Amino acid sequence: MNQDVLSRLLCPDLHLRIYTVTSPGASREILRLHQPSPAAAAHLVRALNGTALLSASLKLDTDQNLSLSLTGNGSLREIHIQADARGHIRGYVSEREDQAGQHIGFLPGDGILRVTRNLGLKEPYTYAGPLQRGDIAGELAYYLTVSEQVPSALILAFETNDSAIIRVSGGLLIQTLPDTPPGVIELVEDRVRNPRLSLADHLASGNDIYSYAMELLDNAPLHLLQSQPLTLSCRCSYDMLRGVLCTLPRSELDSMIEEGGNTEVVCTFCREKYLFTADDLREMLPSQ
Ligand SMILES: [Zn+2]
Repeated sequence: MNQDVLSRLLCPDLHLRIYTVTSPGASREILRLHQPSPAAAAHLVRALNGTALLSASLKLDTDQNLSLSLTGNGSLREIHIQADARGHIRGYVSEREDQAGQHIGFLPGDGILRVTRNLGLKEPYTYAGPLQRGDIAGELAYYLTVSEQVPSALILAFETNDSAIIRVSGGLLIQTLPDTPPGVIELVEDRVRNPRLSLADHLASGNDIYSYAMELLDNAPLHLLQSQPLTLSCRCSYDMLRGVLCTLPRSELDSMIEEGGNTEVVCTFCREKYLFTADDLREMLPSQ
């Protein structure tokens, strides 16, 4: 029931657009790859689901993509997630090694949210602004409502069992349409603030996310427009990492060659290791 799926729905009666995501598989996999602390794990998975929900507005099956980055001055240095219009998503979290005296996670005013949308135009569209809320659902709702001018409510759910295995991972984004009556916006805000049951509890009981959205909207009928599998996948390759090495200053390549052995380059997103021999590196040196 709760597989890795990104869906687009419409509520015609209330004039609302609804995006939903469930991602227990991708969430387990991203935590297995990066082994973050429990606090960072919760933020990473929420950011994964939040970015998936933002990517639902991309034009389906095109080369459009977007990235989300949260940087902070506390225990979390950065969370970075990329998603495309074909349901691929990847990301990582970077934590400060010395967390003594640091606040956990993100705090309002103490970090930056960046969202870059690459819509196939000449230049990508980039937003950057100070953190407003500290929690990822709040940050994204603020960004969509204030920066994108689309009133939006966002719920992100993440829950693990006693063995730190993910039980629930998902999210829900409700947005108004140009003709949504003002009273509906207030209704949605009230329901999201005071739900009868949390999304995490609803999903943990084995119910699907669509029935949660319906219940939240007083059982107004929903039309499922489109549903797409979501996959944690990386597009790194030997040639791509080679390209990164080629951009290093000559002196750095020289010192790697002098060390003689193989140089191991690890992909930040998927932890895949690529080996370059001294001969490989010599070939990258610019010709005199
Ligand atoms: Zn990779």
